[in-house]
Amino acid sequence: MIAEFDHAPLRNDTRFPYVLQCERIKIVEEALALAKAHPDIELRLATTFTGFTQGADGVTAQVTNPAGETESLPGRYLVSAEGARSIVRKELGIEFEGFTYPDRTLNIEVAYDFRRHGYTERNYISDPEEWSNLFHWKGPPDRWRVHFPTTPEDDEAALTRPDALQARLQRFLPTGKDFDIVGSNLYVVHQRVATKFRGGRAILAGDSAHVNSPIGAMGMNSGVHDAFNLAEKLIKILRGEAAEDVLDRYERQRRHVALQHTQAQTIRNKRLLAEKDPAVRKKNHDELRRTAEDPALARAFLLRSSLIESLREAERIP
Ligand SMILES: Cc1cc2nc3c(=O)[nH]c(=O)nc-3n(C[C@H](O)[C@H](O)[C@H](O)COP(=O)(O)OP(=O)(O)OC[C@H]3O[C@@H](n4cnc5c(N)ncnc54)[C@H](O)[C@@H]3O)c2cc1C
Repeated sequence: MIAEFDHAPLRNDTRFPYVLQCERIKIVEEALALAKAHPDIELRLATTFTGFTQGADGVTAQVTNPAGETESLPGRYLVSAEGARSIVRKELGIEFEGFTYPDRTLNIEVAYDFRRHGYTERNYISDPEEWSNLFHWKGPPDRWRVHFPTTPEDDEAALTRPDALQARLQRFLPTGKDFDIVGSNLYVVHQRVATKFRGGRAILAGDSAHVNSPIGAMGMNSGVHDAFNLAEKLIKILRGEAAEDVLDRYERQRRHVALQHTQAQTIRNKRLLAEKDPAVRKKNHDELRRTAEDPALARAFLLRSSLIESLREAERIP
């Protein structure tokens, strides 16, 4: 083990000095229940957004309802939270600047308790040949996810054959017995940030505005930070307490975070895990050890990795 980080040093920085490892479906269910209970929210499920128009005073969203009919929904603002393929971003002609890694990541889902081998809930494993991540992502019954690198030439069918998956897992943790593999898939990783987060009354948030490597668990977290930031500003505009140009500050703040924090850090995280040069690996690992052992350095590290630093920095942006 190179370094272990406990979030206790953040006890004076946040009411939540820990990592909440939570399946996304649970977060969605929570949000859905809150939305259903809110008197001002009209929730439409099984409805497809197809496009929008905007004028000086408002926007109109076109949707296809569950009956297959087209409907026009008027509003003052449109927030695109439609994920990476955002129609709004495309219709606004906003570029999704960045790159896609040529190699895909192999995800294997395993029913096995890795804690008995000393692993914690979240583990980042640096290796010059085969870096990996190991997460306890749901349970009970316990399910763990192990991520492995692949090369662009690798064939998907060969990578996900049951014996190939077992061989990978045995290299990772040689138990001598087959693992109970629940599922596997390959995913493509992008590092992209929209060149603008707003076109008039249409505003991008979450993956619609930025996507990044999952190494560091920052994508959804920073999307939630977009939502808080934007909601605060929209409320002020709707109450007549702020002019519309506060939305430009949303873009300045959240685009800065997407580029300088989320993207920069997840690129660094991957490099750190995959580094091949022995001298650089040693230097990186020594630095990480020193950081974990020194309370002030550990706190600074955790403020960055938990995105608290990004929020503080964004607050200073006029
Ligand atoms: C393997 C992997 C692991 C990850 N792990 C983490 C992690 O540990 N922590 C973390 O913070 N982030 C993580 N992320 C990133 C996280 O999943 C995303 O950042 C997050 O889901 C983005 O949320 P979103 O609501 O912006 O977009 P999405 O989750 O993409 O949601 C968009 C929604 O809009 C709907 N939609 C899209 N188009 C339309 C349309 N035309 N009409 C109607 N509905 C539409 C979609 O169906 C979807 O429900 C991970 C990502 C990957 C790929």
